[in-house]
Amino acid sequence: MNRWARTALRVALDTLLPRHCALCGARLGPRAALPACRGCLAELPRNRAACPRCAAPVAEPGLACRRCLRRAPPWEAAWAPYRYAWPLDAALVRWKFHGDPACGALLEALFARAARRMARGERPEALVPVPLHRARLRGRGFDQAARLARAAGRALGVPVAPEALRRLRPTAAQSGLGAGARRRNVRGAFAAARPPPWRHVALVDDVLTTGSTAGEAARVLRRAGVARVDVWCLLRAAPPAARAQR
Ligand SMILES: [Zn+2]
Ligand SMILES: [Zn+2]
Repeated sequence: MNRWARTALRVALDTLLPRHCALCGARLGPRAALPACRGCLAELPRNRAACPRCAAPVAEPGLACRRCLRRAPPWEAAWAPYRYAWPLDAALVRWKFHGDPACGALLEALFARAARRMARGERPEALVPVPLHRARLRGRGFDQAARLARAAGRALGVPVAPEALRRLRPTAAQSGLGAGARRRNVRGAFAAARPPPWRHVALVDDVLTTGSTAGEAARVLRRAGVARVDVWCLLRAAPPAARAQR
């Protein structure tokens, strides 16, 4: 389809089915590349200055945070383009727990766009979504980590390997648990498909909080022989200890 036909089709579609911003509901123009308005996109909580090991927000970009200096996480590097803050925290809840397709489309597109900008250096050989247990998948109908991984994988031309890890048992929801309880809650929750054929993979999840889930998944992959595991998350929440100190 040539450019003129594409524009005409977009204008026609926009008249018939006007698109709206997934965050504020404002009507979008036919040229909007993402399902959100310019005002909302300009104010997203970007995670600009972040610890290179765990992606927690820090005062100085490029320096490891105090938690990582005390005890390094069981993965190599972590990256999260946005902070777990308004309005993306609300958009994630609407997608995950209410199945809102506009919020899902926006979050997938934001993650894919950020991944394209970020992954200029050494790319992982595969993206491995942190698996959801079958019971939870049945309840929700979709797996948000797998959807984010597929969006980024398409943008980068990197394969997605949802079969690399299996969730062995359902775990209680991590929210509301302290760091120690979160680690106990996920211990032994995953198994790796043997033997994983990659040297370098990135685990993908929607939110990184204490890192206990991603850490357990990273340990399992490394034990199975993957030399380098990175963690890519859409949203970085401040770890509970850091929140209490503030
Ligand atoms: Zn908006
Ligand atoms: Zn850190």
